[in-house]
Amino acid sequence: MMNDVFPASRNAARARLAQFIPGAGQNYAFGRNTDPGPGQPSAVSKLSPYLRYRMITEQEAAQAVLEQHSLPAAEKFIQEILWRTYWKGWLEMRPSVWTQFQEERDRQRDSFPNARAIRNAEAGQTGIEGFDDWARELVETGYLHNHARMWFASIWIFTLRLPWALGADFFLRHLVDADAASNTLSWRWVAGLQTAGKTYLATTDNIARYTNGRFAPKGLATTAVIPPDLTVANPRPIPFAAQWDRQKPALLLVTPDDLNPESLFAPSASIKAAFIAADASTLWGDNARGFVATASRDAAERVNTAFQCPTDILDTLNVETLITQAKQAGAEQIITAYAPVGPVADLFAKFSPRLEQEGITLVQTRRSWDEKFWPHATKGFFPFKEKIPKILGEIG
Ligand SMILES: Cc1cc2nc3c(=O)[nH]c(=O)nc-3n(C[C@H](O)[C@H](O)[C@H](O)COP(=O)(O)OP(=O)(O)OC[C@H]3O[C@@H](n4cnc5c(N)ncnc54)[C@H](O)[C@@H]3O)c2cc1C
Repeated sequence: MMNDVFPASRNAARARLAQFIPGAGQNYAFGRNTDPGPGQPSAVSKLSPYLRYRMITEQEAAQAVLEQHSLPAAEKFIQEILWRTYWKGWLEMRPSVWTQFQEERDRQRDSFPNARAIRNAEAGQTGIEGFDDWARELVETGYLHNHARMWFASIWIFTLRLPWALGADFFLRHLVDADAASNTLSWRWVAGLQTAGKTYLATTDNIARYTNGRFAPKGLATTAVIPPDLTVANPRPIPFAAQWDRQKPALLLVTPDDLNPESLFAPSASIKAAFIAADASTLWGDNARGFVATASRDAAERVNTAFQCPTDILDTLNVETLITQAKQAGAEQIITAYAPVGPVADLFAKFSPRLEQEGITLVQTRRSWDEKFWPHATKGFFPFKEKIPKILGEIG
């Protein structure tokens, strides 16, 4: 069912973007908060899996929209795209928040005394109207409307009083667009951990209004008790990202963090071979894995055409395989899109010493969109938002 909603190809992504563009102005601004339910036409784009795996980039989506609408007219949509960029930049400067989330999730998995309450919530068996439907919708379709994600997280944390990290984990295991930054930081935001003291409390009226009266759950929490948090470390600078040496033979590595290398690297005779690593361990659930498996085959075809080099798919991202393949191709460097904080970056960090030993450089290249926007995610979204018009102008 999930693949019917999100066909995993770049052509499908482009078609969805093209179809959405006429409504990216007023229609989106007025309708984006309404969740009409699964399978119903809605004002949102449903581009998130394509953006998450960068089958289309934020820049490409923003540019296509701004060719048809002025920035003031499409402001809401551009801002939402940039929420994603903001979260990525924020986490990039505070990687310990991702580590702390994983530790908290594991701790709660082992020690939360009411495992049955978690099972019931995940199975949609709490008796709370709407919440139960969203739990099932998430598992079945791999997608939830943004407002439903907010209501669900709020009810999980404040009404059911379940650990936020286990709710975030449930989302990661089922969302097709599951993302370390957007998911963890949105759950923290709802819980009141992200913006000090600011929680998101779902109400019956708001749910009834924005589900077109489909749901009006009773008995929701009316006060928000903020869960405990660990100290968030001061932001580190965004790590340096190198450019590859075009004179030296290279192996191109494509990961689920960026399945669109043809818009990042120019074709070059130096690129001797390419590998698409559709590694399931870098993803959390079957919906995402199924999507990425198909999307990787699509990427392999594009890469082969664009770079005119032998292209293969790797089921696991393993450093010894990379070394063997690099040596076979005579490559001195492995070039890849910069991996933001998350499982691929964790693997790369482990690979580095071994690659160095073999004299192979791992070059992670960052897109100019991230390079320009990420350093501004030092504080809240509002100061970040003010920079948008200027940076968009610089990017062109
Ligand atoms: C608790 C919670 C968990 C979330 N987990 C994820 C996640 O794992 N992965 C993910 O991609 N998004 C996540 N989001 C953000 C948002 O809900 C989805 O990106 C959005 O619903 C996707 O639908 P769309 O493509 O139709 O969005 P549209 O409204 O059409 O927006 C266009 C694009 O902008 C970005 N975007 C929109 N809203 C947000 C937002 N609030 N935060 C960050 N980016 C946004 C997405 O890339 C989206 O595709 C989460 C939100 C909440 C409240």
